[in-house]
Amino acid sequence: MQPLFEAGENLLSESSSFHFACHDALPCFTQCCRDVNIYLTPYDIVRLRRVVKTGSTEFLARHTQSFLAKGTSIPVVQLLMDPKSLYCPFVTADGCQVYENRPWACRMFPLDLSPTPGQYRLIAGKDRCKGLLERRDKNVGDWMNEQGVSDYVAFDAEFQSVMPKRFRPGAPMNEGLGRVLFLAYDLDRFKELLSDARFKRFYEVDDAMIERALENDEELLRLAFRYIREQMDELYQVL
Ligand code: SF4
Ligand code: SF4
Repeated sequence: MQPLFEAGENLLSESSSFHFACHDALPCFTQCCRDVNIYLTPYDIVRLRRVVKTGSTEFLARHTQSFLAKGTSIPVVQLLMDPKSLYCPFVTADGCQVYENRPWACRMFPLDLSPTPGQYRLIAGKDRCKGLLERRDKNVGDWMNEQGVSDYVAFDAEFQSVMPKRFRPGAPMNEGLGRVLFLAYDLDRFKELLSDARFKRFYEVDDAMIERALENDEELLRLAFRYIREQMDELYQVL
């Protein structure tokens, strides 16, 4: 049998296997939803605020801590845990109440992306995540499909592509550019730009495209990426 992965050991590829099953009879049930750092992507916010039924500005204010990273000015948006219990605001004794729209990081757990594309690492040990002691073999690729991560991966790739070609990860960036990037998280603010006639003219966006974006958050996010990409291209040279 193929050797199975242990926390802190070598990396997994999509064809690797690991032992895992998560269910409510385990003593750790919901413990992974407590006192945990969950960094959100723009698409996570689209999905979460749809179920929470709030706008992006309100969602960000109520459920996240967000800031521009020192030096790089890249936006960081972290899900806030309850300050007293340290539990995620979306968990109850029955499990995740936003399960169908849970963030990318929650879908991946107990795996996470590794710095090497196409490889994954285990971020919890068997002491914390008892599901890793279950004798159910999981193929990494099949498991990620079951978790529905593909849309999250695709939207994240689109978000990464807004950065100018000259940009090098970790390089210092002007805060103004960080604020432009943050529009992808706060689509309410981006929406305000759409009503400006100059926006339509300058970005060659027609009414049908705007209508589609106003009716569909995924289309709105794609349009925001397009706007941010053009802004970054233009401003990266001067800021
Ligand atoms: S969003 Fe759901 S899965 Fe993620 S930490 Fe909160 S309750 Fe847990
Ligand atoms: S710690 Fe692991 S097994 Fe336990 S509830 Fe979380 S994901 Fe499931």
